[in-house]
Amino acid sequence: MSAESEALQRAPLVIETVESSYCRRPPCYRDVTESQWQSYRWQFAHRIADAASLAQVIDLSADEREAIDAISSVFPMAISPHYAALMRPELGVTCPVRRQAVPLLAELDHHDSLMDDPLGERRHAVCANLTQRYPDRALIYATHECAMRCRHCTRRSRVGLMESVSNEAIQRAIDAIKDNKNIRDVLISGGDPLSLPNDVLRHIFAELRQCPHVDVIRLCTRMVCTLPQRCSDPDLLGILGAYAPIYVNTQFNHPFEATSEAANAMANLRAAGCILGNQSVLLRGINDRADILEPLYRWLLRCGCRPYYLFLCDVAQGTAHFRTPIQTGLDIMKAFRGRLSGLAIPHFVVDLPDGMGKVDLCPDSISSGKTGAALTFRNWFGVDVKYDDCIG
Ligand code: SF4
Repeated sequence: MSAESEALQRAPLVIETVESSYCRRPPCYRDVTESQWQSYRWQFAHRIADAASLAQVIDLSADEREAIDAISSVFPMAISPHYAALMRPELGVTCPVRRQAVPLLAELDHHDSLMDDPLGERRHAVCANLTQRYPDRALIYATHECAMRCRHCTRRSRVGLMESVSNEAIQRAIDAIKDNKNIRDVLISGGDPLSLPNDVLRHIFAELRQCPHVDVIRLCTRMVCTLPQRCSDPDLLGILGAYAPIYVNTQFNHPFEATSEAANAMANLRAAGCILGNQSVLLRGINDRADILEPLYRWLLRCGCRPYYLFLCDVAQGTAHFRTPIQTGLDIMKAFRGRLSGLAIPHFVVDLPDGMGKVDLCPDSISSGKTGAALTFRNWFGVDVKYDDCIG
């Protein structure tokens, strides 16, 4: 059999069934009603923040137990019951959901090459809660709060510990955007902006829509994955619809995060006129294989959410144990070729330290020759194909 026909016969990797987190809920939540579980207020109010509560969901290792206490003054744990229900107790400490949510002592290791502010957001700050790293884009840091504190978080030195961001500080950021006509694309981030009250979100959208120079409003939220019930709030959906189109960038990293609640959240957001994209983070031992990401990306596309970026883990202090070599990502991108439609293939990107910008990383597809001459490309199933770059 030729390489081509062999490659064509490989079956796509897909997520066969998508369960509800309510159906998966651990025994400690047995008496919680479905309407409580599907209420974002209930989920937020019952976030797991200490070892004793988490021990009712999984058997904690000694390392995790010690880390939860030791890390509480640095980057405290918070896990929504929805996300906790996705942990697979049978996988122990290797569970990819657990690894993203439960601290390890390795987070306390200091590495000289890692940084507290890896993207230079303070260095590039226009004012306390506004960062501008590109001429046409700016990021409002609108809240320190999140539904879950992801252990690989780039902004872990700011999220979860500080006083809430005041409305005055948000207004100063908006006023700076109004004064800068070059800014055409505004990211509302934090923390997770969907943890803000609806009236604050409404105010931000209304103010930005009054700026004729702002073309694009982006909402960067992980709640679609970690607390999707938030996206069933009719009031929120009405606000998003009123200021459509809002570009919603979310973060799914593993097929275990595919739930019927998340699928409903994406359907609701799309119905409200949002345009969805996913920004995965490449995490060692969690999703650092093409056969893990392929079914996730197929499912996201089915939900109307386009895989947009696959980020190399940023150089954030406390995340060394999550980092992969660049080659791992390049190998994944190479494996996607021909396996996945271009719609489902994200850009593989490194966000350079200190706010020096994003760089696209591509596997080298020219197997020999130079541009402007006769080239040989290696295609997705490993066959070298000659291509004349000098025609005309
Ligand atoms: S939701 Fe985003 S900002 Fe919040 S902890 Fe996770 S990665 Fe960080």
